[in-house]
Amino acid sequence: MIPYGRQDITDEDISAVVNVLRSDWLTQGPNIPVFEKLVANDVGAKHALATSSATTALHLACLSLGIGVGDLVWTSPITFVASSNCALYCGASVDFVDIDPLTRNICIAELGRKLELAKKKNKLPKAVVVVHFAGAPAEMKSIKELSEIYGFSIIEDASHAIGAKYQGQKVGGSQYSDCTVYSFHPVKIITTGEGGMLLTNSDKINRMSSELRSHGITRDVSQFENGEDGGWYYEQQSLGSNYRITDIQAALGSSQYKRVEQYVEQRNSLANKYHSLLADLPLQLPTVAKGDLSAWHLYTICLNEPKDRRRVFDTMKSSGIGVNVHYIPVHTQPYYKKMGFKESDFPNAMKYYNSTITIPIFPTMTEEMQSEVVRSLRSALR
Ligand SMILES: *Cc1c(COP(=O)(O)O)cnc(C)c1O
Repeated sequence: MIPYGRQDITDEDISAVVNVLRSDWLTQGPNIPVFEKLVANDVGAKHALATSSATTALHLACLSLGIGVGDLVWTSPITFVASSNCALYCGASVDFVDIDPLTRNICIAELGRKLELAKKKNKLPKAVVVVHFAGAPAEMKSIKELSEIYGFSIIEDASHAIGAKYQGQKVGGSQYSDCTVYSFHPVKIITTGEGGMLLTNSDKINRMSSELRSHGITRDVSQFENGEDGGWYYEQQSLGSNYRITDIQAALGSSQYKRVEQYVEQRNSLANKYHSLLADLPLQLPTVAKGDLSAWHLYTICLNEPKDRRRVFDTMKSSGIGVNVHYIPVHTQPYYKKMGFKESDFPNAMKYYNSTITIPIFPTMTEEMQSEVVRSLRSALR
């Protein structure tokens, strides 16, 4: 089976992990700040906080932006459920903005229309979670402009876009947002097993998220409400949880991160190869906006004949190709349907979903593997 994605673990990664296992600290040790600084410096963000997952980083982002009961958060329906669940954890409500059929990212024109309408109804969102689908950056400058008109916060869900560049700047620098979230799940660009990161230029978001990541506890004397009481003293000032990463994972993360650019390059060359090998087939191939660099986390094709999707998927799967579908539109999930969403609410998302297949792409994919995928797809489409 050729999987749709796969991690790459080197001997150097393994030594980095083993070194931590032999050290004094398994968690909350020196490797976490090293990993955080490495990424923050590379992408040009003021702060980075490593977390137990992207899901928990998204929750911290929402909490730090003050999202709560009575608030509204918008995101794209073509994403993993975590992009919208984060708002629900805070007691807020969720709504979606349909996708652009070409980029599969949030549609800027639709976002503008929906904001105008929401303003009239006095139901503007407090935040928009912007997903960089498949690793291709969304149009951040336009979204930032809209946020200044309508006054919402922006969380970038860059789970797919580690190493991607928006108009020459690394996604994660948060130049056009309040904060950015990465995922280090093994299927993503780099891995720490489970893990995530929250990047921000805001001291306030960083301070709140850092506290909430660890039970709402602070050890910073200057922040104490009760006053200083001795070397053992700490204060719980808010209700946080344990959303920390371990030192073991952080060491793996630092070791992996050194190869981000190499991975993104490999993914780009595989994607370019797919573009040319599949150009003559009855498919709509994925695109990247001009001036941007995608991290190519996923390579998603759309069939011109959606009725063939299931058959093509099954045929490829049974010939050993690990095809997948990204994503089942979030608003069609039973949990979301109960909130009143209907399939027809987001027609571009449904049209995309009903015709899409994700074909394998990962840095260690060989030329032979790629040929096999293309062969299988060609024969399934016949
Ligand atoms: C994978 C993913 C997440 C969740 O990442 P975890 O690290 O597994 O919590 C969130 N959003 C998107 C878009 C993802 O692809």
